[in-house]
Amino acid sequence: MSAPLLRAGGVAKRFGGVVANDGVSLRVERGEIVGLIGPNGSGKSTLFNLICGTHPADAGVIRFRGRDITALTSAQIARAGLVRTFQQTRVYRGMTCMDNMRISFAPGEAAAGIRAWLAPPSAAADSDSEELLEFVGLREKRDWRAGELSFGQQKLLELAMALVARPAMLLLDEPTAGINPTLINGVLSRLRAVNERFGVTLLVIEHNMRVVMNLAGRIYCMAHGKILAEGPAREIQNDRRVIDAYLGGQ
Ligand code: ADP
Ligand code: MG
Repeated sequence: MSAPLLRAGGVAKRFGGVVANDGVSLRVERGEIVGLIGPNGSGKSTLFNLICGTHPADAGVIRFRGRDITALTSAQIARAGLVRTFQQTRVYRGMTCMDNMRISFAPGEAAAGIRAWLAPPSAAADSDSEELLEFVGLREKRDWRAGELSFGQQKLLELAMALVARPAMLLLDEPTAGINPTLINGVLSRLRAVNERFGVTLLVIEHNMRVVMNLAGRIYCMAHGKILAEGPAREIQNDRRVIDAYLGGQ
């Protein structure tokens, strides 16, 4: 049997007195769409931050494609093929959609202005960018400033930017949160296409139960920094511990 695409083992993170992740282990196989649910503050975004190198883990090991990525920077992890999006989008609101796409061709920690200079417009990159903007339905808005888009459209732009690197795996932090309900199905169908058409493995934090049940084959539920339950979507939906965690969190 081949190794899972992503494996986290015993991952821990503390912020002062808050234990945000307390020995979290999970695995994602190549080609899967896996959901990550749990009440607010249960540690989901922290887990993404640890996997993607945004914050260093206090303990545990994270492997991607069999390689230990625990101590790598987020730029190194992105280059290895593991890319994330943020709960609050990270598009550059003052820049056009095309310029946002262009800077994504030079991933790294440098400021957007420097990255734009590192990745001057090239015909190949621009046609790639236009194709991805077309895929998320934003081609006509290519010269709009990102700040002029609706929040949902900004999330779609961020998805297109994440795809520039042709990642093997995407971590999506609440891709439908805060967007107009009429756009949710558009986001869902694009995420399915990213998985099916581009062959990208997805790990998706999602608070909308209908959305995650619809999208994910398998689901992890977190509570108080730990994995509470794992299983097929249908089973998790009816899992007593999961229901109690949500009711207790309200
Ligand atoms: P979720 O994404 O499931 O809502 P988070 O991972 O954002 O949960 O948060 C888990 C806990 O860790 C919360 O108590 C939160 O306040 C805390 N936390 C998360 N990030 C930080 C940070 N950068 N500094 C201090 N505390 C944090
Ligand atoms: Mg979160």
